[in-house]
Amino acid sequence: MRTSTRRHLHALQLAQACVELGARVRTVHHITRLPRRELIRLFYPDSQSIPRGRPPDSPEWYHTANVLFRADASLVGVLYRRLRHANLPSGSSLIAAYRHYRHLRAPEPRISFDRAFDLAAHLEGIWITSIRSFSVAVCPQCHSEHLTAIGGPRSQSVGCPWCKIIHRYRTDPRVQTSFPTLPLVDPRHIVLGIDLLIAQPPGGGADIPDDPA
Ligand SMILES: [Zn+2]
Repeated sequence: MRTSTRRHLHALQLAQACVELGARVRTVHHITRLPRRELIRLFYPDSQSIPRGRPPDSPEWYHTANVLFRADASLVGVLYRRLRHANLPSGSSLIAAYRHYRHLRAPEPRISFDRAFDLAAHLEGIWITSIRSFSVAVCPQCHSEHLTAIGGPRSQSVGCPWCKIIHRYRTDPRVQTSFPTLPLVDPRHIVLGIDLLIAQPPGGGADIPDDPA
C-alpha cells in the first residue's frame, strides 16, 4: 500500500474516533488535516447533527471556571501530556487521553472533546496556536499534577484545584457528589489468617502434598 494511501486511511480512522467522541468539524479538521468538505460528506451526513457554536477558548475560560472544571481540565491535560511523553502522536494521544478521562469521570464528564482539544493545543502550542498557554505543575502541598498558566498577569491567580477540592470536601455537597468515596468492604465477610487455618481439614490442606520422607 502506498504511503499516501496509508496516511489517508489513518487520518480517516482518527476522524472516525474524534466524531464518535463528539468533535466538531473544525476540531477533526485540525487533528487529521482532512478537508472540511470531505469530513462533512463522510461523517456528518445529517447537516442538523453538525455540532455548532463558538469553539472553546481555554486560556480565558480556565481562570473563570469553577474548581471542579479546573480539576477535570487538569486531568485531561495531564493524561494527554503523559501519552505525548511516551512519544504517541498528538492526535492519538488526545483521543486516548479523552477516552481515559471519560471513563474516569463517567457518567457525566465535564470536559467536552472540543474543550480537551483546545486544552491540549494550548498546552503544547499546536494545531490552532503556536503559543503555549499552559504547563503542568506539581503541587508542593498535595504533590498532584495540575494545569497552570504560562505568563500573563493571571498566572498565579489560581492554585492547585486538588488542594481546593480536598479543602472543600467536607462542606461542599457538589464536591462530594463529583468525587464519591468508595464504600469500605465489611471486614466480617473477609476470611483472615487464623480463620483460614482453623477452616483447614485435619492433616493439612488438599493443596499441599504430604512430604514423601
Ligand atoms: Zn495541591
